[in-house]
Formats: sequence, structure tokens, C-alpha cells
Amino acid sequence: SMYPPAMDREDVPEVAIVGGGIIGLTLALGLNKRGINAKVYEQARSLREIGAGVAFTANAVRCMEQIDPRLVTALRSVATSNGDPNNPNDHLQWVDGFNVDPEHPEDEELLYKLYAGPRGFEGCHRAHFLDALLKVVPEGVLQFGKRLANVVEQDEEEKVKLEFEDGTVAEADAVIGCDGIKSRVRELMFGSENPVSHPTYTHKIAYRGLIPMDKAVEAVGESKAKNQHMHLGPQAHLLHFPVANQKLMNVVAFAPDPEEWEDSKTFVAPATRRDVEKVFAGWGTTVRSIVSLLPNDLDKWAVFDSSTFPVPCYNKGRICIAGDAAHAAAPHHGAGAGIGVEDALCLSALLDKAASVIQDDKASKSQALKLAFITFNTIRRKRTQWLVQSSHDVCEIYEWNHPKTGSDPDKCFEEIRRRSHKIWYFDYEDMVRESSESFEWRVVI
Ligand code: FAD
Repeated sequence: SMYPPAMDREDVPEVAIVGGGIIGLTLALGLNKRGINAKVYEQARSLREIGAGVAFTANAVRCMEQIDPRLVTALRSVATSNGDPNNPNDHLQWVDGFNVDPEHPEDEELLYKLYAGPRGFEGCHRAHFLDALLKVVPEGVLQFGKRLANVVEQDEEEKVKLEFEDGTVAEADAVIGCDGIKSRVRELMFGSENPVSHPTYTHKIAYRGLIPMDKAVEAVGESKAKNQHMHLGPQAHLLHFPVANQKLMNVVAFAPDPEEWEDSKTFVAPATRRDVEKVFAGWGTTVRSIVSLLPNDLDKWAVFDSSTFPVPCYNKGRICIAGDAAHAAAPHHGAGAGIGVEDALCLSALLDKAASVIQDDKASKSQALKLAFITFNTIRRKRTQWLVQSSHDVCEIYEWNHPKTGSDPDKCFEEIRRRSHKIWYFDYEDMVRESSESFEWRVVI
């Protein structure tokens, strides 16, 4: 790391990260790399990711490289790009999974195709990625079984206090909530009566499952099985991409749900393959073959997001929120984690700056940390809230329901391209530069 060991330095800020999901751990590594003392408090007794895939854009992987190259090593040890690893096909493809020629019901018309850049869409098994991440998180950084109940911000000169449900407490100079869509930190910032404290139901269900790749190849052919495809149709769509070094096909099927989701404690419920078969009953052979390979028992996810009640800001004093806690997007761009990685890069850079300002006695610890969080909010809010809205809109576009694009394929493609490129070609170097400049300017005045 760039500084002497943080532990024995009075002037090095101590940061408490609430939540050990992808973003909390990514941020912890970024801070650790910059000599900042970070601790992660995770409610679970151990970290167990779900049996589903997650994919990162090339840009998100480049952000990881800036945060801490150990992240890229961890990801690459478990990730899979499209197709043959020696000849990756880095296109994302949208096909018509519904309107098929009765003579050739296995053929799907290619609707749109976008080049995502070299290794532009790296899929991995979430549990494998998490295991790889845990191996590089330094000893003592992550504490399990710590469910945050309350945060008390005391006087300027004193540390912020974290109270956990097991009755224990911890202290830090600043608190960053990376505690996901049901964030407790967000609720503490805005109050439980405030609608921004709670995500809302998008009335979409996501069925998720993994299929052995050899079975998938047998059913739909090598090229379709081993490359990412989004199969579109009325009111529903099905996405798949390879994970686990091409050994598994990750499948996510989206279906509408007119009902309310009653259980606010969990957004996951058991489902069966039969449920998915019903949704895609009238579709082409390819989609139905993929569905037929799903396990009998699977999980369904109620898709919630923060598009209806976005938070007005991401910071309050020495407390801030990042990742899904700040901006929970529906998964239709496949970019929620990626944009949270951008947050982690921004915060790593800003807290690095704050640490040097503190060291040089240009500001007190609490002033510097507050200014870092004010800057984070200013720099990140617009783009991340755009993603939340666009993730909602793009689902309507995929399902030919968006008022601007309707069922016009050219208009749909134009919108999909514009939105995808805005995600993929984000200038993160500029973000880091702007963050630093903006922070320095705030410290001076
Ligand atoms: P989380 O992963 O939710 O982690 C939050 C952590 O905080 C958890 O470990 C939780 O236990 C802990 N926690 C919560 N409350 C407390 C508390 N009070 N005290 C202590 N700990 C607490 N994104 C992509 O970029 N690409 C994809 O392909 C993709 N696919 C997706 C598919 C689906 C079906 C869904 C639903 C999402 C998808 N996403 C994808 C989005 C992505 O999963 C999220 O954006 C990402 O996981 C958010 O990470 P996070 O660390 O912010 O939150």
C-alpha cells in the first residue's frame, strides 16, 4: 500500500462499511490499497452468494483495475467471456424468441446485435466470485454476524458510533452503507416513514437458474448456448450467458406479476420449473428447450427498485450510501453491480484525497470526510439515478411496451444502443479527476 500501515497512525481515517456484498468488499479493498483503515460489518454469519450469475462490462472491469488489481485477478479466475475463450464473441444479441416460423420453430430472428468490446461482458457464478474475493480481503477486515441497528453521529470531535443487533458497538470516523436494496443505513438517514427508505415492486418476477452447459449445447446448439442471448417476446423475456468457464449457462427469465408482493422481509420465494413453462408456453422451441432444462425447484425473485422514490442525496454528515443502498436498479441492463463498482472507485479516490488532507492538517478528520461525501453525492447521483430509470425503461423497450419505441425495431434498437453505450463507455478517469478537483476546491473554500 502507498502509506505506512494504517493501524498505528492516529491521523489515518477509520471507515466502517456496512454490508459485505460485492460493493462493500470492493470498496474495502480499494481503501485498504490506499492505506485507509476499513472494516466491513456483515449481518450474515458467513458469506454465501446465491446460485446465479452476474456479469460485468469491460468498463466495470477497468474500474476494478483502478480500485485494486486484486479484484480483476479474482474475477478473471472465475469469469467467462462469450463463446470460445480463444476466440471470444463479444457481441450481445437480442433475438425474437416468440414469433418463429412454424416450419422452423427452432430458428429465432436476430433483432439487434451490439459489440461490447473485448471481453465486454464477463459472466461469473456469484458464489465463485465471492469466494475469490474473500481470499484477497485481508484478515480482520470483515466481521460476520453484525447486523446494523443504529448509527449515532456524535460531536464533530468524536467518532461515529455503530450499534448492532447483537448489542455490540463499534466506532469509526465515517460510515458507508453498502447494505443493499433494503439498506438500514438509508433508512436511518431518511427515517422509516419516508418512502425513499423503501424500494418498490416493479411487478416483474425473475426466475433464475443454472444449467449444465453440455445439456444446453445439446438442446440449442453450441453457438447459441455459449454466447449471451436475450430472447424477447410480449410481456416477458429470457436472458442467458455462460458462466463458470463455460461449464454452466446462467438463465434469468422475466415474467409479469399483477399481484402485490406481500412479504417485505424477503424478495425471494420458491418456484418450480412448471411456473416458468407456463409463462413461455406459446414461445419458440429454443426458449422452451432452455426452460425445460431448468431444475424442478428454483427460486423466484421479486424485482424491486428505487425508481419510484429515489433518495434526494447519498450523504448526511459523516454517513453515506453507495451501491444498491443508494440506487437499486432492476436488472434489465445487467449493470447494477457494475455501476456500484464505479461508486467504489469514486469513494476510494475521494477518501484517499481526504486522508492526505487530514495528514497535511488542511482539514480536521470530520471536515475532510464530510466534504468527501458531499463530493461523492455531487459526482455520482445523476448517473446512478439515470441507471435506475433506464433499467426500468429498457425492460419496456424489450417487451415492446415503451411509448417512445412501441414495436418499431429500429427505434427500439436505437434506444438500446444509446443506453448501453452510456453504460459501457463511461469515462471513469474523468470521474476520478473531477472528484479530486471538486474535493480540493471544497477544502480550500
Ligand atoms: P448487496 O449485494 O445486496 O449486498 C448487501 C450486503 O449488505 C449483503 O451482504 C447483506 O447481507 C448486507 N446487509 C444488509 N443489511 C445489513 C445490516 N443492517 N447490517 C449489516 N449488513 C447488512 N448487476 C450487474 O452488474 N450485472 C448483472 O448481470 C446483474 N444481474 C442481476 C440479476 C438479477 C436477477 C438481480 C436481482 C440483480 C442483478 N444485478 C446485476 C444487480 C446486482 O446484483 C446488484 O446491483 C449488486 O449485487 C449490489 O451489490 P451491493 O453490494 O450494493 O448490495
